[in-house]
Amino acid sequence: MDKNWSDMNKEMQALLSKKATFPEGIEKLLALRKNVFEQITQIVMTFPKEAFYQMPFAGADGYHSKTLAYSIWHIFRIEDIVAHEMIAGDQQVLFAQGFLEKVRSPIITTGNELAGEEIAEFSRQLNVKELYHYAQAVMQSTDQILMGLDYTDLKRRFGDDMIEKLQKTGCVSEDENARWLIEYWCGKDVQGLIRMPFSRHWIMHVEAMRRIKNKLCSIARKGVDPIAYCGFSCNHCFLSAWCGSCRTAYNTCSFATIAPDGKCPNAVCCQAKGFDGCYECDMLETCEKGFYIPSNDGANAAKAQALYIRKHGKKEFLKVHDRLHQKYDFAKTQEILGQDIQKGLRILEEN
Ligand code: SF4
Ligand code: SF4
Repeated sequence: MDKNWSDMNKEMQALLSKKATFPEGIEKLLALRKNVFEQITQIVMTFPKEAFYQMPFAGADGYHSKTLAYSIWHIFRIEDIVAHEMIAGDQQVLFAQGFLEKVRSPIITTGNELAGEEIAEFSRQLNVKELYHYAQAVMQSTDQILMGLDYTDLKRRFGDDMIEKLQKTGCVSEDENARWLIEYWCGKDVQGLIRMPFSRHWIMHVEAMRRIKNKLCSIARKGVDPIAYCGFSCNHCFLSAWCGSCRTAYNTCSFATIAPDGKCPNAVCCQAKGFDGCYECDMLETCEKGFYIPSNDGANAAKAQALYIRKHGKKEFLKVHDRLHQKYDFAKTQEILGQDIQKGLRILEEN
């Protein structure tokens, strides 16, 4: 489990279990959920449409065998059902806010009954942007419910009437892979529900989403020019495990993820000008776009690399990188090339 999420989860559980620290526990829970949700946001904002119905681990045993879209649907359908039918006793967000039509889902269930190709087919039908808005709405609504809880609510349990109520909603399939969910939820008190659907369940599925996205990125990068538009080498980049390169639709480099359209400004500018990379541009030395923004500590190292490519070509550049990585132990290129363009260029040329 992600170390940060795991630590936050443990701390939150400990705080929640004591009356004196309960309010702090709820705050920690909300912070954890916000943190994990940011990963979903990043994926939805930067990944292409087709990424959401791919199953790069189809047939594997584990949550990563699903799709990105299925994972989002599943996490938030479960939360919506549990938060509203069981804890708040009001209407689910899916129906109250008209998301069923907006998301274009053919099912109202949690999706546990789907298998193999059915998952991919289901995912293909969903409107991912609306699915994301649904997830956001469920999270916000659950957060409100959690903030309204009192320490004494934690021990609240659910009886046979709740089992019957949940069965009647039709939100859990009668398929053997799904129907156990109702008894599972009703076997827990509110504290147990906080432990699973509202925190741990998120972490487990979002970690699986990370695996899926990383795999999609590595598939996307196969056979693609490994030189990034800004002058970095994707083959030697410390982010290459999760970035699919700025030359593919799976561009998740730092500047792409913070751009409003999810595209790296250097890539967009080069494409608009018909350049293979910034190394073909006369404005390279003075440019402050995207990765070259002066506040970025890697800006001048990127420029030094682009200048090297301009002078010596990509093939030589990749060889220099191989040698630098054999010689030194580093993650970011600026750790070796420093902050000065000409000095950085000299280091590249001397190696
Ligand atoms: S962050 Fe940049 S250099 Fe690294 S893999 Fe992505 S596009 Fe390539
Ligand atoms: S203006 Fe800047 S971002 Fe655009 S191609 Fe030139 S160096 Fe690259």
